Amino acid sequence: MRAAVYEGPGNIRVEQVPDPEIMLDTDALVAVSHAAISGNDLWSYRGYGQRTPGSRIGREFLGVVQDVGADVRTPRRGDVVIAPSAFSDGTCEYCLAGLHTSCVDGGFWAEPGHDGGQGEAVRVPNADGTLVVVPRSLAGSWARLLPLADVLPAGHHAAVSAGVGYRKTVAVVGDGAVGLSAVLASRRLGADRVVLLGHHPERAELGQAFGVTEAVYGHGEAAIEQFMSVSGGADCVLECVGAQSALDTAIKIAKDGATIGYVGTPHLVEGLDLGSLFGRNIGLAGGASPARAYLPTLLADVISGRLDASPLFDLSVALRDVADGYVAMDTRKALKVGIGV
Ligand SMILES: [Zn+2]
Repeated sequence: MRAAVYEGPGNIRVEQVPDPEIMLDTDALVAVSHAAISGNDLWSYRGYGQRTPGSRIGREFLGVVQDVGADVRTPRRGDVVIAPSAFSDGTCEYCLAGLHTSCVDGGFWAEPGHDGGQGEAVRVPNADGTLVVVPRSLAGSWARLLPLADVLPAGHHAAVSAGVGYRKTVAVVGDGAVGLSAVLASRRLGADRVVLLGHHPERAELGQAFGVTEAVYGHGEAAIEQFMSVSGGADCVLECVGAQSALDTAIKIAKDGATIGYVGTPHLVEGLDLGSLFGRNIGLAGGASPARAYLPTLLADVISGRLDASPLFDLSVALRDVADGYVAMDTRKALKVGIGV
């Protein structure tokens, strides 16, 4: 089959790779219909992280079940399924606690020994715990479903971790796909004021459509000052970037007693000054988003039409052109790229 392969920084190619097969009775084989390029994939593309040349890539996909192992009970052949960004058994103490990313028998797509989502098919370990079956009527609405694989649960995780609720003033740091998802999630959880700090005024219209009430564009102290004059400080800060500057900003714009929900994968973060949190009783919560935990609840709202993150996708490419998709995201010509397989 064909799949995207990481061949080094700035170099993603579509290559022939071995067809996946059922290896364990708990596996399923999924024919991928659509995939997406995630922020995590983009960091790899830029040369950060542990990915070695020749490894597969892609964490977000949906498709149709082709085959299941003897012990698989829920997904059946022909079902349309979404895979969250991590696979998990759904039965260990961490999964039962809603922390599927810590599953004792789990892992992430495209890690050594596992297929990536950007390819024609994927062997899904622990299929019962991992896959979520979606109504066939939604099978054609890939752009509404695919955000559920990672980006929308990540925004939701930031909001939940920061304690977003009614009458809260929420700050979202970062206007990438996760940040904009965090805006949607905050409004869904009842926030009446969502102030976005970003670098891309061209995304303002989308931000407004998702529920941004005020936006501040810029860098450093000037942006922080503007944010404080607009809002007076935030009760909940959603850090959706993962860079040192974003974390520093998040601390500075938090009101005393606020909680920062951080979901940006830390890159080049040197450290945090605990003293800046301690005296002001600022909490820090969040981390790797357990997408599987949130997927059923968010899917219900997608099915009912109350939640629609599909406008995040502003470019769609065929699998053979996946390299163009990476270029578009790397150069910020695209916010989020969908891949038709
Ligand atoms: Zn588990």
